[in-house]
Parts: sequence; structure tokens; C-alpha cells
Amino acid sequence: MKIAFIGIGNMGLPMAINLKKASLDPTVFDLSVKAKDAAAKEGLKVATSAEDAIKEADVLITMLPASQHVEDLYNGSILKNAGKHCLLIDCSTIAPDAARRVQKSASALGFAMVDAPVSGGTGAATAGTLTFMVGGEKTTFEKAKPILEKMGKKIFHAGPSGCGQVAKVCNNMLLAIHMIGTSEALSLGKALGLDSKTLSEIMLQSSGRNWSLEVYNPQPGVMENVPASRDYTGGFGVQLMCKDLGLAAEAALGTKSRIPLGELARNLYEMHRSQGWAEKDFSSIIKLIHAEP
Ligand code: NAD
Repeated sequence: MKIAFIGIGNMGLPMAINLKKASLDPTVFDLSVKAKDAAAKEGLKVATSAEDAIKEADVLITMLPASQHVEDLYNGSILKNAGKHCLLIDCSTIAPDAARRVQKSASALGFAMVDAPVSGGTGAATAGTLTFMVGGEKTTFEKAKPILEKMGKKIFHAGPSGCGQVAKVCNNMLLAIHMIGTSEALSLGKALGLDSKTLSEIMLQSSGRNWSLEVYNPQPGVMENVPASRDYTGGFGVQLMCKDLGLAAEAALGTKSRIPLGELARNLYEMHRSQGWAEKDFSSIIKLIHAEP
């Protein structure tokens, strides 16, 4: 089986390396020279163009920044140059509507395609423990699953085309909201004289329990090996959270859904980003909530 992998940035490169480790030896391509050099250093086969990468591929995986990149690449090149038997798997996080448009064009030309965004970040991409949320026909999902298992631990079939992106957008909106809520509770407790570690332990055994408290505490010094304890580095960036909250807002607008907390979370994260925190981990939002006097 010949695999092509396009978009070998922060996430794509470790994912492609895991395919190579599983003896699937992908041919990779990226527009960035830096990304291509990094892939060559890892011993990956680097193609000279997207067309070159996909010309004999049985499976194509893409991991691109945003909706526009995906639509442009698929409509401009992939759907014109890939063999009709080539299974198309887009792992980028994009708007559900964009994913559905691309899959519609692909299936009109006879291609099988799934949207398969991931949860887990660069650490999970490196460890091969990503969660994949897949949208598309069940039969296509079954074909994609064994390949995704080489890069991830949990592979969900969310539903038809675009549903992987829907799951991703809803999950990350909830993540933003409970991270802000957790930050508020810890900041208020601290201001009232309660140690954050003690308060976290109490809330973990009470009704405020949530994922941010459990494995990603935003208050420095409460937990080891989380971004808060290394100056908010090496996690899921504020910039990426803003992108995902933008996708949630766009999706809500399109369906006339009310997401008051999602919108508020987006405003708070945008404010935080504009104050110089774009590259830091999203749990640093506690610094916006509990600004030092
Ligand atoms: P990145 O910017 O590091 O990598 C994207 C790569 O795509 C870049 O190297 C870029 O040069 C390349 N690219 C863009 N257009 C291209 C084209 N037409 N042809 C070939 N290459 C092209 O981004 P990333 O952090 O790897 O994220 C990729 C996707 O995964 C995004 O949609 C992001 O939202 C999602 N995601 C990221 C994380 C994370 O923690 N970084 C976590 C979950 C999901």
C-alpha cells in the first residue's frame, strides 16, 4: 500500500513518522522547505510536489492549517491528479461545511473520503496516541481505521460526512468553557485565601470535577508535567484554541444555534491572544482571569 502525506508541520511530521515506524513508509510533501528538510532528516521520502506525492498513492492523508488550504489543495490538485482508487483522509481541523463541500466534490468524482480531525496535540501525535473523530460512510471509515490506528489510540466513527469536524468543534468549545470556569474557581478561591492545590483536591471529589481539573490544572505548582508548570509551554496554543472557537461560532451561525458561553469563551481567548499569549498553552487563560495587580 502506497501512502502519501501532505502537510508535515507540527502534527503531520510526527504522524508520518509513526506510519514509517509501522512500515507504511509514506511519501510526504509540504510547501515549506523547513518542513521538508525536517522530514528528510527523519528518513522520510520527500516528494517534489503534491502531484508527485499522490501520483501512485493508494491512500492520501492531509494535515493542513485551515479550511481554505484544504479546499484549495483538494479542488486544485488532489481531485484532478489522484487515482480514483485512492482513499482520501483529511485530518486537518476545518469547518464542518468545508469538509462536506470537499467530500461532495470527491464523491462526485468517484473518490471515497473521510474527515478525520484529531484530538491530542503534538505530544499525542508523537506518541501515536491521538483520538480520531471520523466523518464519512461506514465502509470508508472501516478502510481508514487500520491506517489511523498506526497514529492514534481511539478511533471514533462520528457519523456521515463532516461529523468528525462537528465532534471536534463541539469538544473544543466545551474544553475552552470548562478551562475558563476552572480558572475562575481557582482564582476566586485563591483570592479568598484557599490554596489552589487544596481547592483542586476538594473540587475533584465534588460536583465541580472536570477534565481541566483532573489532568490539566491551569494553576502553576498544582500539578507536575502540565503546561502551567513549565510557563505554559508545550501544549495546545491559545492561537489554535481561537481558531477552533472561530469554527464553533461559524458553525453556530450557520445553524442558528445559541452558544452564549462559546461566544464569551471566544471573546476571552481573543483578548488573551491579543495580549501576547498567542503561542502559550490555552490553560494560561487563568492569567487573564487572575491578572496580577
Ligand atoms: P502547521 O502549521 O504546523 O502544519 C501545517 C503544514 O501544512 C505546514 O507545514 C504548511 O506548510 C503545510 N501546508 C499548507 N498548505 C499546504 C499545501 N497546499 N501543500 C502542502 N503543504 C501545505 O499546523 P499543525 O499544528 O500541524 O496543525 C495542522 C492541523 O491540525 C490544523 O488544522 C490544526 O488545527 C490541527 N490540530 C493541531 C493541533 C496542535 O496541537 N498543533 C492539535 C489538534 C489539531
